[in-house]
Amino acid sequence: MSGGGFNLQTHTAVTGLKRKKPSGESGFCWEVQTQRGVVKARRVVLATNGYTAAVWPRFQGVVVPLRGQVTAQRPGKAMPAGGCLPTTYSFIYERGYEYMVARPQGSRFAGDIVMGGGLVRAPDDGLMEFGTTDDSVVNEDISEYLRETTGRYFGPDWGEDHPEGRVRSEWTGIMGFSPDGLPFVGEVPGENGLWASCSFQGHGMVLCWMCAKALVDMMEGRDDEELGEWFPDVFRITEERLAKRFQGRLY
Ligand SMILES: Cc1cc2nc3c(=O)[nH]c(=O)nc-3n(C[C@H](O)[C@H](O)[C@H](O)COP(=O)(O)OP(=O)(O)OC[C@H]3O[C@@H](n4cnc5c(N)ncnc54)[C@H](O)[C@@H]3O)c2cc1C
Repeated sequence: MSGGGFNLQTHTAVTGLKRKKPSGESGFCWEVQTQRGVVKARRVVLATNGYTAAVWPRFQGVVVPLRGQVTAQRPGKAMPAGGCLPTTYSFIYERGYEYMVARPQGSRFAGDIVMGGGLVRAPDDGLMEFGTTDDSVVNEDISEYLRETTGRYFGPDWGEDHPEGRVRSEWTGIMGFSPDGLPFVGEVPGENGLWASCSFQGHGMVLCWMCAKALVDMMEGRDDEELGEWFPDVFRITEERLAKRFQGRLY
């Protein structure tokens, strides 16, 4: 897709990124290798979250992929039709957590209970889920655990399972975790023209929009007092933060 100077190449993996000496008047100094050819650019943004180290190896051990798992469950027969929970819930225990969201009234599959988490219920506290980027499969131990959570949390209010079965759907996705539990936003130190906004842990839906806005402000030379008023400095990429190695989830 292209237009107005904008060109979007979907389903096109970046297979390599190289810094070159700036060439000619264009000043292109980055070469992005893709499955469909090379893109030359003055500036490159890594918006690759948990996969960032695959594109720029300096993030290896700094932004670590972690596979998360979710189920969508048809409500049991004793549950009110069309949704019953006005808010979302988190169940936090010593080493882990689950979260629960009911599909709201008027939405597709209203009343379905979406349960995610359960990582530590897999063997070795879910160790095998760290460092994996394969979101085409689910972890059977976590599936089994998540499936049981609704009956347990709702108790008799759940009732018999829906005749079509409890689990409507389940899937995995890849998150990006950092040593200090914070995103990386800004120019990569020492790499003129290489920018990043990544590593949102399990909270990217609430963070990535404004991090993108902050990144654009920085790239466009608006890294000023106004940005400082709302954008947390601790999200900025620094040598010190890049030198730390991931030791485990902080939450
Ligand atoms: C199971 C699960 C539950 C979550 N729950 C919540 C929640 O409740 N609340 C919340 O706020 N957040 C939640 N998140 C986190 C949130 O989904 C992410 O933080 C958010 O999607 C990050 O957005 P992003 O665009 O930075 O990265 P992503 O959505 O991961 O996008 C990265 C993109 O980069 C592309 N990419 C990677 N490598 C390459 C390459 N080499 N070449 C080309 N493209 C590449 C990928 O295909 C992908 O499209 C959850 C995530 C998961 C997996």
